[in-house]
Amino acid sequence: MSRARARRLRELLKVEPGTNIRLADIDPGETHGRDKAASARELPEGLERLTSLQDRLWAEQRHKVLIVLQGIDAAGKDGSIKHVMSAFNPMGCTVTSFKVPTEIELAHDYLWRVHQRTPGKGEIAIFNRSHYEDVLVVRVHDLVPKEVWSKRFAEINAFEELLVAAGTTIVKFFLWIDRDEQRERFQERLDDPDKRWKFRTNDLEERKRWDDYVAAYEEALRRCSTDVAPWYVIPANRKWFRNLAIADILGDTLEDLDPRYPPSDEDLTGIRLV
Ligand code: AMP
Ligand code: MG
Repeated sequence: MSRARARRLRELLKVEPGTNIRLADIDPGETHGRDKAASARELPEGLERLTSLQDRLWAEQRHKVLIVLQGIDAAGKDGSIKHVMSAFNPMGCTVTSFKVPTEIELAHDYLWRVHQRTPGKGEIAIFNRSHYEDVLVVRVHDLVPKEVWSKRFAEINAFEELLVAAGTTIVKFFLWIDRDEQRERFQERLDDPDKRWKFRTNDLEERKRWDDYVAAYEEALRRCSTDVAPWYVIPANRKWFRNLAIADILGDTLEDLDPRYPPSDEDLTGIRLV
């Protein structure tokens, strides 16, 4: 596993803060010179590396890691958790899928439910959707007035800055597929009885608002990719590349933290078992 190659991919896919990103310019089928056949070997290597890094991270009880997954319906958020995050020991790892807010959640500010699920020391917290829904679906459907949602980019940056100041490393992935790929995936969900549970007729209504979602994502990526909490745009039409890219970026990010098994806090010298 080449660290240099992972780092290069991380740099390539990172949204530079303030970039006026146009998703139409990013090919969701891009593979950046990676190869599907080789990925059959590279992905398991990448996953082993993640397993080892998380083992040390959990033992050390020092760093906190927050992974945010966003993407249009059927972009592969669930699949990424299944195929990449499965490298992590469930002990020390949490997954939260953010749904339509409940009554009690709506009675609070939008970050209330999110803050509770952020990682503690040694933990990795995975967000399947996140506080970003409050500038995405909420904006597209006018669930709150523009004066309210437009302030949220700054609020989100302040919130993430707070988490980072408290020792959290934040990695945000936007999984980017195109409309044709979404159509195929929806059709597959409809045709396969084992996948039908994932399909809601509402998905078709959302699909009609594709352009509105793209515009909302573009603004969120532009305004909320920061040096302390960067966004990565993952070309996600090809699942094997999506998995490889996420594993590489996570691996490189966790390597930077250099987690280490801690020494014992007791004096163990001379202890012999009888
Ligand atoms: P799924 O990810 O398919 O389980 O669906 C979850 C649904 O919850 C999606 O349609 C999201 O748009 C919706 N959702 C998540 N967060 C919010 C939010 N803050 N406000 C409104 N809808 C939300
Ligand atoms: Mg859904």
